[in-house]
Amino acid sequence: MTFDITRFMEKVVSKNAGEVEFHQAVREVIESLAPYLKENPTWLEDKLLERLVEPERVITFRVPWIDDEDTVQINRGWRVEFNSAIGPYKGGLRFSPHVTLGTLKFLAFEQIFKNSLTSLPLGGGKGGADFDSTGKSDREIMRFCHSYMTELYRHIGEHTDIPAGDLGVNKREIGYLFGQYKKITNEFTGVLTGKGMEWGGSYFRPEATGYGVAYFLDNMLRKAGSELKGKRVSVSGYGNVGSFLIEKITELGGTVVTISDKKGYVYDEQGIRGDKIEFVKNLWCRDHLPVEAYAKRYNLPYILGRKPWEVAVDIAIPSACQNELTEEDAKQLLSNGIICVCEASNMPVTKEAFDLLKQHDILFGPAKAANAGGVAVSGLEMTQNSLRYSWKPIEVDQELKQIMRNIHDKCVEFGTVDNKIDYAVGANIAGFLKVAQAMRDQGIV
Ligand code: GLU
Repeated sequence: MTFDITRFMEKVVSKNAGEVEFHQAVREVIESLAPYLKENPTWLEDKLLERLVEPERVITFRVPWIDDEDTVQINRGWRVEFNSAIGPYKGGLRFSPHVTLGTLKFLAFEQIFKNSLTSLPLGGGKGGADFDSTGKSDREIMRFCHSYMTELYRHIGEHTDIPAGDLGVNKREIGYLFGQYKKITNEFTGVLTGKGMEWGGSYFRPEATGYGVAYFLDNMLRKAGSELKGKRVSVSGYGNVGSFLIEKITELGGTVVTISDKKGYVYDEQGIRGDKIEFVKNLWCRDHLPVEAYAKRYNLPYILGRKPWEVAVDIAIPSACQNELTEEDAKQLLSNGIICVCEASNMPVTKEAFDLLKQHDILFGPAKAANAGGVAVSGLEMTQNSLRYSWKPIEVDQELKQIMRNIHDKCVEFGTVDNKIDYAVGANIAGFLKVAQAMRDQGIV
């Protein structure tokens, strides 16, 4: 049985017209699986790949709510339940005016492989709404979340689909969503993760994605005979992922010199360390302030309209949004002697930039492996909820470290050809095999 990537992708593109991010995510996976599938063509039987790129279920719904001026507002909500071969659907909710169904399909598709890599029994899903929380009052956010859950509750459950946070959805939103779920169903279950510590959350869940990226990066560097100690690092973003990432990288001996937002970035040559880390942690997650506030506080220039990738560093970690690091940026990084790029947010490196970095043999950590720590600790939160128990912080951190180490080792196992490690290929093959085996075992459903 032969496999024609071009024809396969043509079908994906025509069936999912206009969903360019979804096409990009599928193409990346399929292209990296292709050589493996050539050697192991039985995985092509029974249209397994065609089934894999088709979501099991997509739910679209109206979210009406009333703003503080007593005006009715209407948003659109979605939940993409992509694949439940290895466990209940699991993945975050993204609230952003830029969210489209195509964005959520790309994220849900990535989540299938990411969740598979964690070794936990988690299927892939993602959801969200085209809701913009900027400038909204707390009460407006609450009414929106309650209305969102008034529809979503019938589609989810601790054994069915377990949403969590993502961009625009943090502990506050999870709280309002959970409150409404509990009110409607009269059940206190682990139906959402990222909950507050007082009501079923797990230690280290807020830190997990950022810490996990740092652990993964540390493993990659060690494997390459290097280390984080003494390395200069640029980071974009400064939210949930970025701030904890900075904390852990610093703890492991690296020096982070940038943070950024949509408008520009700050370059802190001395490194973001000591009190500055606490300041960054609160900047977005508690105070919702722009990066400029950091520049003002520490008397540094705020470089408007530019990206942090122009700064000469050893390691670059895009942690903000998809396709933020372009081919131009990659050229700039290369000319400044970059040795490693590690994705912390989902698909932040464009296809062209990725290809260029690969041509130059730059050590590359793909998001679905590097940022799997968040969903992994979500899985641990689910376990604790089922046990009606709470593990100690040290237990969760050790588990997270071990999971990131296992993911790293699986990437090495499946991504090594001629003594060269391709972490992106390794992550895709390892993630795919577990899901594919489960799909095969369960027949054509
Ligand atoms: N949104 C996070 C991710 O992209 C976490 C998902 C979860 O915890 O379910 O992996």
